[in-house]
Amino acid sequence: MDFKRTELTKLNGISEKRSALFAKLDINNLEDLLLFFPRDYEDWTEITPLHLIEDGAVVTVQAKIVAAPTMQYKGKLLWLRTSLTDGLNVISAIWFNQPWLTKKLHAGFEYYFHGKVQRQGRSFSLQNPLFFDKTEYEKQKIQAIYPLTAGLTQKIVRNSVDQVLALYNNYLIDPLPDQIRRDYELCTLNYALERIHQPQAQYEHQIARIRLAFEELFLIRSALYLLKRKNQAESKAKALLSSESVKQKMNDLRHSLPFTLTNAQIKAINDILRDMRQTKPMNRLLQGDVGSGKTMVAAFALAYAVWSGGQCIFMAPTSILARQHMNTLTTLLAPVGIKIELLTGQTTGKKRRDILEAAENHEVDVIVGTHAVLEKDLILKKPVLTITDEQHRFGVAQRSALADFDENDYLPHRLVMSATPIPRTLALILYGDLDLSIMDELPVGRKKINTYTATSQDTAKIYKLMRKTVERGEQVYVVCPLIEDSELSDLESAETTYEKLSRNIFPDLKIGLIHGSLKTDEKDQVMEKFIDGEIDILVSTTVIEVGVDNPRATLMLIQNAERFGLAQLHQLRGRIGRSDLDSICILLSDSEEELARERLITLCKTQNGFELAEQDLRLRGPGDFFGTKQHGLPQFKLINLYRDNEIIQTVNDAFMKIVKNDPELSFPDNQNIVKAIQQRYPEILSGITL
Ligand code: ADP
Ligand code: MG
Repeated sequence: MDFKRTELTKLNGISEKRSALFAKLDINNLEDLLLFFPRDYEDWTEITPLHLIEDGAVVTVQAKIVAAPTMQYKGKLLWLRTSLTDGLNVISAIWFNQPWLTKKLHAGFEYYFHGKVQRQGRSFSLQNPLFFDKTEYEKQKIQAIYPLTAGLTQKIVRNSVDQVLALYNNYLIDPLPDQIRRDYELCTLNYALERIHQPQAQYEHQIARIRLAFEELFLIRSALYLLKRKNQAESKAKALLSSESVKQKMNDLRHSLPFTLTNAQIKAINDILRDMRQTKPMNRLLQGDVGSGKTMVAAFALAYAVWSGGQCIFMAPTSILARQHMNTLTTLLAPVGIKIELLTGQTTGKKRRDILEAAENHEVDVIVGTHAVLEKDLILKKPVLTITDEQHRFGVAQRSALADFDENDYLPHRLVMSATPIPRTLALILYGDLDLSIMDELPVGRKKINTYTATSQDTAKIYKLMRKTVERGEQVYVVCPLIEDSELSDLESAETTYEKLSRNIFPDLKIGLIHGSLKTDEKDQVMEKFIDGEIDILVSTTVIEVGVDNPRATLMLIQNAERFGLAQLHQLRGRIGRSDLDSICILLSDSEEELARERLITLCKTQNGFELAEQDLRLRGPGDFFGTKQHGLPQFKLINLYRDNEIIQTVNDAFMKIVKNDPELSFPDNQNIVKAIQQRYPEILSGITL
């Protein structure tokens, strides 16, 4: 049976309606349900002797029914009462309004009872306890607790999982080679699946979980590895060769800059040019901290590609950013004769046709744009280089989609840029299909952004500082948390803040509001006003997080700072300090949680994003360092990329051991890796024929 293709309605007790409830939990087929892991367990393995029970405790006891239960009305309630003994002590058990239980509770027989203890004078009773005979108890003394949604109960989920396990029949391929299982002491897949759902002892679900977490990461690591190999082996790109004249022009470009490139920039540029000279398509991730000067590196890559090859595409996640890149690139590259055009969703009609025609006739060298340029009819026929800014907004799926940009035999060289600092081990998991250039150095003379923590008691001082900043002709960001969960409507809090600031606090200043539910051109308008200085104080959600450049913004107030991940705070902070003016970032938080405070203080002390990332991993705080769902990989079910540093390292080591001997993963022992990836993650490998 193909679990992936079998809908839940095939199970007993699952109607269309119930199946829709499961869908809310992202469970759409039998495989999803099989891999829907408990969040906790209810453990009834510990039996409390009757002489040790205490008032109010929830206990499991093993006891005999002394005599047939009696029934009695008290008011409207029907009491069913009996006595239980473990041979030494006696307690009573009471059920309300469940007369049918008399038939199930046989005097002289032993049962397991689970419920809450209540004390009446000197005697104890269990109220409405659940009870099981020995066989039933053995089967379910540890019960899985699943995440639920309204309308679903543990019983429904357990029952459905039970059916899936009965149908299971070794359906999933076990990817782990025996040697790896032995070396790392991991149990088999079948055992793990059964015992994570239906353990008979504590240690069983622990063993199961370790094994499944290892596998989860191992599969992704392998899949990305294969993706990379496949891209390298089969696809060809135009080799962009350097000539004396290109060398000369590159040199001139370098000397035309008002500053010197950092060593990190030079190294990254060299990595990129070296890649582009090959017939194998470049597939490189440029990771650089906010402000490290990635755009400059991109400009050099573009210049080289244009002079030695052909047309290029530069893609940004939003039209504001696209326009900004357009400006930067034009300033830099137009003087040396490179023709650049901007193409976004808002470029329409004749303008758009003109650009496309110019592109067709090779009158344009570089097209800067948003996703609009991804649409098939808009793309250049044969771009030699595509650059994608802010990679963390794009997932693996898009990364692969970009690969078949060109319908001809050549693939473009590809460069993706990301400002999310990720420790190297992790980058291997998340971006295993890409080569890495890391820029962990900021241009010299960059001013440090003075970062402070504050509480709501400091509000008056903060308002004063905001006013002073505006009076100096500088600008302010006020950032409010945005939470995806609509029930905790935090959009409103941006709105409330806006209302408060514009009505009560600064009625004389120009306050703006921007958030994710505005339309694109509304957002653009607000951003433009802010950049043009028509807004003094911009209240926003995290929509401003990505790359926007306003050198006159020098103060940022982040409200409920504890709600953001460290990396996200660092990104946000990167929106200020973009000139030679002094900048201040205030992290406002009333959280008294120690870890939360510690994280914020870390941010005050550290300016370097990579260091912050490492620190964050060390602190092992709660939260999602990488932001929600941004990495575009399948959601990890068991691995916490944030906490499980050790497993990540172990899986990397294990995987490296395997590919060292068998780079194709074609040894008989390793073939299940490939098969399991095809079975589990067909979407990642859809582009791959193995
Ligand atoms: P990011 O990596 O965050 O995208 P940008 O490319 O936007 O960074 O660069 C940030 C600012 O630093 C820009 O104003 C850019 O002109 C400037 N810059 C880039 N490289 C250097 C350098 N080597 N020296 C000084 N300033 C630089
Ligand atoms: Mg940038």
